[in-house]
Amino acid sequence: MNYFSSDFRLGILGGGQLGKMLLYETRKYDIQTLVLDPNDEAPCKIACNQFFKGDLMDFDTVYNFGKKVDLLTFEIEHVNVDALEKLEQENIKVFPSSKTLRVIQNKARQKLFYSDNNIPTAPFLRFSFTDEISHSIQNGNLSLPFVWKSAQFGYDGQGVKIIKTLSDLESLPNIECIAEELVPFKNELAVIVARNPDGNVITYPVIEMEFHPTANQVEYVICPARIDREVAKKAQSTALKVSDALGHVGLLAVEMFQTKDDEIIVNEVAPRPHNSGHYSIEASYTNQFEQHIRAILNLPLGSTASKVGGIMVNLVGSEGYSGDVVYENIEEIMRIDGVTPHIYGKRETRPFRKMGHVTIVNEELAEARKIAQEVKNLIKVISK
Ligand code: ADP
Repeated sequence: MNYFSSDFRLGILGGGQLGKMLLYETRKYDIQTLVLDPNDEAPCKIACNQFFKGDLMDFDTVYNFGKKVDLLTFEIEHVNVDALEKLEQENIKVFPSSKTLRVIQNKARQKLFYSDNNIPTAPFLRFSFTDEISHSIQNGNLSLPFVWKSAQFGYDGQGVKIIKTLSDLESLPNIECIAEELVPFKNELAVIVARNPDGNVITYPVIEMEFHPTANQVEYVICPARIDREVAKKAQSTALKVSDALGHVGLLAVEMFQTKDDEIIVNEVAPRPHNSGHYSIEASYTNQFEQHIRAILNLPLGSTASKVGGIMVNLVGSEGYSGDVVYENIEEIMRIDGVTPHIYGKRETRPFRKMGHVTIVNEELAEARKIAQEVKNLIKVISK
């Protein structure tokens, strides 16, 4: 199949920043793209060949969009999976497949999948409704503290809450959820795995995530993770085990906890380019977006090795600011060697909204970490 400067049409469900960065790569290869997103001002709009406005959860909208393309992929998990399945039955290629997405879309199903495949994960209980949890505590089946997670539509920590007392349950929506054991972890790690339809598979180095203490969003992504080689090996083989069990095509980001005893347990996965792989745009031989394109088109996979140490800082909207965005001190950070800001193209900022990210590369990871701190202290995402 000739994808380059041809009539081949790649469809992307979702038009956010992940899609926009994917489009840098389709432009590089001159591959035609169609994007579907509900937002008229989606970051992808300027870079795709054709933009369609529509609801990603609506069967007909997704199905009709899929009929216009040769291969369909997505940059967000919240899409109508029944429509993807029907398109597959009608010989439209969908990568990652509807089967993979169905397992991942629901956290309870995803956790069951790990148990069924002997993949280490924190023990959990599933509930059809949050209000069933208090009975379970009273009956002694569940003890405090634990982590409540909505089964569906959680994003960036919004569907996750640590429950320490019964009253913490009161503010939660009454929906399908899981109660998971609180893991006293030492580190949060992630490994991105790429797999093509031929079954060729490759992993990126293990990265380390540092989270914002209250907002539950990643503050720094550090590549390579500053961990023992043995732990890194274990993390990579665990990620490969998940990838193998799923038999996915495309990228799979596997988020893991490193426990106090250096065990590796899987937290969750995302079947798409991931925030933890943004560093690869500047630091790797093949960035994650190019790799996703290579994988879904069954092209040779590229080297995942890093050229330099890389650290990524998320640019999220500061608390107390809403409205037209201003990036304060952006010129100051651009004066520093190895610092590259990425601005996603969202006009309006809101507290904790992901507006962009900054990559810091340096031969010395420790130096990159120092600069990352400096960048974080300087740049502010505020409004006019
Ligand atoms: P999301 O899908 O919103 O990214 P996650 O499941 O990744 O949600 O959870 C968000 C964060 O909450 C994790 O990165 C971690 O810091 C914390 N967390 C999640 N599960 C647990 C757990 N079982 N024990 C301790 N902390 C957890």
